[in-house]
This record gives sequence, C-alpha cells and structure tokens, in this order.
Amino acid sequence: MKLSVTQRERLAEIAREAKEIVGGSLHPDGRAMTFMELEDECIEAGDLITSAMLGQRVAERQPPQQLPCCPTCDREGAPGPDEPRVLQTDRGEVSWMEPTCYCRHCRRSFFPSLG
Ligand SMILES: [Zn+2]
Repeated sequence: MKLSVTQRERLAEIAREAKEIVGGSLHPDGRAMTFMELEDECIEAGDLITSAMLGQRVAERQPPQQLPCCPTCDREGAPGPDEPRVLQTDRGEVSWMEPTCYCRHCRRSFFPSLG
C-alpha cells in the first residue's frame, strides 16, 4: 500500500496529537531525555496505535461468501457465534470479535482462515 499525500498529512497530524498525549522531552526533574528514552516511548505509543488499528481493520472484514470447510473433514461448516480472537503480533497483542463455524460431523468449532 502506498499512502497518498493527504493520508500522510493526516497521519502526521495524528503523530502530533500522539506526541501531545505522550508528553514533552524532559523528565519530571527537568533533565532532558536521551534519544533512546524518547525512541522507546515513541515505539511504545506507535505499537499501541498499530495493534489497535489492526484489530479494527480485521474486525471490519466481510465474512466469506461461501461457508468455509472444516479443516479436519473438509465438510462445509455451519455459521457459529462470534468469539473473541487474540493474536500476538510484532507490534503487540491484537484482539477482535470474529464469527466462527461449526462442523456437525466433527462436533467442533473453527475459525475461517485468516488468509
Ligand atoms: Zn469436520
């Protein structure tokens, strides 16, 4: 994906807002923070934004047109209830609600493939 100029400008605005939330570049006692300290705080904030945004985007995906097949017996699954999913990513934990499928033959629930 290539971000447009407008998208980059809006993300820069969000970065300025995130900087206001995280705070300035001084410790409470007035000492200047080191580059590494600043970098660590920025990475922590950025990772939080990334994992939250990824969870929102994953939850927005449309369900597959055709019901997925059971990974054990390859029979077509029946729709099941939404269940929480949690994945550990390079940027932190991502969580969302996802519909499940149920195989009556194997008597098991499974998640459609994330692809
Ligand atoms: Zn099955």
